[in-house]
Amino acid sequence: MTEAERPSAIGQALLAISDKWTLLILQRAFLLRMRRFADWRDELGMSESVLASRLKELVAGELLRPAPYREQGRTRTEYRLTERAIELWPMLVEIWSWERRWVPLRQGLPELTHDVCGNRTEVELGCAGCRRAPVAAHDTETVRGAALFAQVTVPRHHRRIMREAETDPLSYFPETFDLLGDRWSTVILVAAFFGTRRFADFRSELGVAPSVLANRLRQFTTLGVLAVEEPGYRLTAKGLDLFGIFACVVDWAQRWYTGPPATDLRVTHRACGQPFRPCLRCGSCGQALSRTEVHFVVPEGRLPSPRRRITASAPS
Ligand SMILES: [Zn+2]
Ligand SMILES: [Zn+2]
Repeated sequence: MTEAERPSAIGQALLAISDKWTLLILQRAFLLRMRRFADWRDELGMSESVLASRLKELVAGELLRPAPYREQGRTRTEYRLTERAIELWPMLVEIWSWERRWVPLRQGLPELTHDVCGNRTEVELGCAGCRRAPVAAHDTETVRGAALFAQVTVPRHHRRIMREAETDPLSYFPETFDLLGDRWSTVILVAAFFGTRRFADFRSELGVAPSVLANRLRQFTTLGVLAVEEPGYRLTAKGLDLFGIFACVVDWAQRWYTGPPATDLRVTHRACGQPFRPCLRCGSCGQALSRTEVHFVVPEGRLPSPRRRITASAPS
């Protein structure tokens, strides 16, 4: 791939994770410590061929690492999260946090416990540079290179139909998967964050087919993330509040991927003037959260049967 063809860091990140099945596989790996083919297959009800192709991509993208283990005298393969994947944890926490604030179906959402203070808590997005919190979209300024969206939207695999979120016993993030589980949806939202308003501007900037664009914009309007307002569309409060998730994706992308210079993106925290790097704080005690000091508690009634089995046999 030539320099000009290489997507931006964010584009590469979206190519790696912006797919519903991929997000669900990673989510289960995080929350339920899933590592084995049969566990994901049974838990998510995926076909073996789709699961195999996603695992292959996750391994190629260095998000999962195959590791052999012995079972009943045979050598099998399990998949462990790599450091690159583990660093996605703030994004998953921000997804959870957004769903808690905006999705009415809160019953059964897991709770987040901060082990340091012992509280079940809410999360605040803060600035790692100056430690101020909370930080919202309007507290930051974003400057982007002209070619940020170039090559982002090359479709890598066919769209597949996801079963209805309601039928998924562990569907923590049904709405977010509608927003982030599809590359077009994600880049349209990112473009909206950068101030794109008009239908024609989305089209020319992203090179998206009109029918696809119209479909996604309608979906976002229905979800209440975008509102129709002259000269086109604007992010609502619910949409602007997705900033935390995007800030985490951008931060992760820039740490793990390198794009051509014209695709650079800079987010600055206005209050301190430093590049904005997200830092998650405990809403109860105010301390910065670290991955090893938080855990999700899944409500009892929501546990599908495979989870007990997995927890019981979870390797450390
Ligand atoms: Zn700051
Ligand atoms: Zn705390």
